[in-house]
Amino acid sequence: MSGRDDRPTSAYVHIPFCRRRCYYCDFPITVVGDRPGSGIFDWMAEYVRAICQEINTAPQFGAPLKTIFFGGGTPSLLPVAELAQIIATLNRYFGIDRNAEISIEIDPGTFDLKQLKDYRSLGINRVSLGVQSFDEELLKICGRSHSLNDIFVAIDLINKANITNFSLDLISGLPHQSLEIWQDSLNRATAFGPKHISCYDLVLEPVTAFGRKYRGENTPLPADKIAAKMYRTAREILENAGYEHYEISNYAKTGFQCAHNRVYWENKSYYGFGMGAASYVDRQRLTRPRTRKEYYLWVENLIANNGAIDYPHDTENDLILDTLMLGLRLADGVSLSEIHSNFGKAVLERIWSCLQKYWDLAEQGKEARDLIILIDKDGKAIAPQNLKNLLEVERLRLSDPEGFLFSNIILTDLFALF
Ligand code: SF4
Repeated sequence: MSGRDDRPTSAYVHIPFCRRRCYYCDFPITVVGDRPGSGIFDWMAEYVRAICQEINTAPQFGAPLKTIFFGGGTPSLLPVAELAQIIATLNRYFGIDRNAEISIEIDPGTFDLKQLKDYRSLGINRVSLGVQSFDEELLKICGRSHSLNDIFVAIDLINKANITNFSLDLISGLPHQSLEIWQDSLNRATAFGPKHISCYDLVLEPVTAFGRKYRGENTPLPADKIAAKMYRTAREILENAGYEHYEISNYAKTGFQCAHNRVYWENKSYYGFGMGAASYVDRQRLTRPRTRKEYYLWVENLIANNGAIDYPHDTENDLILDTLMLGLRLADGVSLSEIHSNFGKAVLERIWSCLQKYWDLAEQGKEARDLIILIDKDGKAIAPQNLKNLLEVERLRLSDPEGFLFSNIILTDLFALF
């Protein structure tokens, strides 16, 4: 690798508690019910203790954190005092940059105004609200634990707390979701003026309630053509409303891209803490156990070994593949000149040979036309047939929306290469 500073300056903290499990969700969570009692708060305190112990065994590189992301689960179910303890531990151990982006995922119906104001006092400056849909019926179909009115109340509270940097999450491709319902959700989302909107396409995971229910044909899931239309519609509505489509599933107003998530897509290092959390430190990827019990045992083991864990480093092939797979999710794409300087010309030529068929398709005027865009050092697009030397290409990116829609196929081709 080149001499880029790859000391981790980002931390993901997984807070696994949810009131119930949504029918599409396979995340590592602990269901606590709609009215958590004192026993549940003891669980939470125990979990936070384990997280803080884990933080205190992490390798240090002398660089303060620039982004922190509390994801879940439903982090807003965690009492503020517990959250404060995690932030204080991170600060004591790593230091937190005074301009750090500190985000938290929150769900409607799980917080009040005081809680949001307390977040601000803790330095949290970005919230991401799990809306998923502005359709009451769809919220029920998905098994969400909140109503449409809870969403309106939540956004009102965010505004009252003067948290200007907020994001709304939406899902397309849901069962019984029509194009019109999707358009309506997008329009309502933009009307609230969030700085950021994430639009995820439903992935049917086999272990979820949806995965079991909607196996086979004749399901109420939107057909592929409609799902693709939903993707194009999102782009159109959101771009018209002033959002930049900066990543396959993410849109932001200028200056409000999620700095934490960019770290993942740019294949940079980051810490991860908590059950099921992934980390990428010192070229080692690690995913923690997905249940609390196993996670606690893992932390005990970590302490017994003074923080040392034996797990493999990424190989060069892993690095190349991750750089491509993650970077091509971004509208700016990946830097081929960096791939060249980090891994050599032979790797560049392999990538090139894999993409050749897409240029051939383009020349034949087939559907795959203009899926992949080559950018030169001046930021201008170059037609592949006009290319004299591979090293003229500075960046490689997928077009929007067609290249993004086709990304699975392109990425599968690249995956087969390394
Ligand atoms: S609230 Fe989020 S993490 Fe929790 S079950 Fe629903 S989708 Fe999963």
